[in-house]
Amino acid sequence: MEIPAYQSLFINGEWKEPKQYTPLYAPFDQTELTNIPSAGEEEVEAAIAAAVQAKSVMKQMPAHERSTILSNLAELLEINKDRAAEFIAREAAKPITTAKGEVARTIQTYKFASQAANQLYGEKLPMDAAPGGENRVGFTTREPLGVIGAITPFNFPMNLVAHKVGPAIATGNTIVLKPASQTPLSAYFLAELLEEAGLPPGVLNIITGSGRVIGDKIVKDDRVSMITFTGSPEVGKQIRSRAGLKKTTLELGSNSAVIIDEETDLDKVVPRCVQGAFAFQGQVCISLQRIYVHENGFRSFVDKFVEETKKLKTGGPLDEETNVSAMISPNDAERALSWIREAEQSGANVETGAAKEGNVVLPTVLTGVKRNQKVSCEEVFAPIVMINSVSSVEEAIGEVNDSRYGLQAGIYTNDIQKAMSASEKLEVGGVLINDFPTFRVDHMPYGGVKESGTGREGIKYAVEEMTELKLTVINNNF
Ligand code: NAP
Repeated sequence: MEIPAYQSLFINGEWKEPKQYTPLYAPFDQTELTNIPSAGEEEVEAAIAAAVQAKSVMKQMPAHERSTILSNLAELLEINKDRAAEFIAREAAKPITTAKGEVARTIQTYKFASQAANQLYGEKLPMDAAPGGENRVGFTTREPLGVIGAITPFNFPMNLVAHKVGPAIATGNTIVLKPASQTPLSAYFLAELLEEAGLPPGVLNIITGSGRVIGDKIVKDDRVSMITFTGSPEVGKQIRSRAGLKKTTLELGSNSAVIIDEETDLDKVVPRCVQGAFAFQGQVCISLQRIYVHENGFRSFVDKFVEETKKLKTGGPLDEETNVSAMISPNDAERALSWIREAEQSGANVETGAAKEGNVVLPTVLTGVKRNQKVSCEEVFAPIVMINSVSSVEEAIGEVNDSRYGLQAGIYTNDIQKAMSASEKLEVGGVLINDFPTFRVDHMPYGGVKESGTGREGIKYAVEEMTELKLTVINNNF
């Protein structure tokens, strides 16, 4: 697939040449892929102004038209799915089979958004439940917020954009999108498809460039009504402190964990957990980072886990056989190795991995890791997993909760009482019983507690976040 040597900004339905470009390199072999626009304040201003102007178009657009644009988009993506997957594989070093999976999910996400456009229900209120409310009719409606600023990370460059663009269009909002600097190609491809799908000019504007500069301008601008951000907790906190009274949805990081109770069928569980730990090099917000196994099955679990891990193939992202490819940047590969070394120096055992080939960090399994080691208490965001032994599910729940994050957690157990106790006590946004914490389908409510964020995505829930509830009361006593 040929990628043009220069990309353009997408503002007000037009492709605009920027004043400045930055080269984009492939994470796997550092070859130059293309040159990306580095937008400045002037271009951000143009994007916001276009989105403000398009507000009235979207406010008047009937639901069925918004729904049709989104279903057209899903169809166009289906036709172009291989091209879309190749963009992701090349810009993010996501193994092509995993990239194809992301495109399939993105199509689902836009289909859910298309349905949601036709389902913006309000409710009729029983006004006479309060003395003084007799003979009044009260009902609620949902109105678009206006301009939504969407800032997205590198790790799911197509589907996480879909989780913002899909519900924003479904609810009649306009958007200024700032994709991650490393992965803008799939976002620009989306703009091409949305133009063809019938989206009016100005409804979606895409600008690329430094997050610190242009992201900050979007976050602070009073004409933007909401910031929907997915990314690291550090940036999430900055956004929260600068966004003023805007609505903010923050989907942040985690150090997700699973609990394996005694008498669990390890042959069934191990391959799933290996997938949860190493898919896309562990660069997934709900990647499986910590595993707590009942002491009775601990050694057997570790042995099976290591054996399964060794079957994974490392290599280039475009190779169909590759399971694990390069980290997003050489710096991230170095950081991952230094965290492993730090854990080793504090007494952790390396069961396999702990080396790199180019920018590919080999899938690494650690045991005996102490709680205060970065590979346990920070978000590792690399192909590294730790497995520790516990004497009970209760103890494991305490370990899982001893974290500043809380996105999703899983528990494998045959005991319904323990499963229900875990569901109640785990301090996370989602509990997966008899599954890994890495499970996500695109209509379920998804989001975290503690430093994993605020607000929920999953189309129905994002629709609530992206609309304002309005009350109308008719006084029939008049
Ligand atoms: P990141 O460094 O926080 O960047 C995310 C986005 O924010 C990028 O577009 C970035 O632009 C922009 N940005 C950077 N500094 C900014 C600032 N000061 N103001 C406004 N925007 C700014 O995250 P990442 O490395 O791309 O992604 C990995 C993180 O995302 C992990 O922590 C992961 O857990 C989290 N994540 C969470 C979820 C979830 O749903 N909870 C899903 C996926 C990923 P540049 O690229 O130009 O720097």
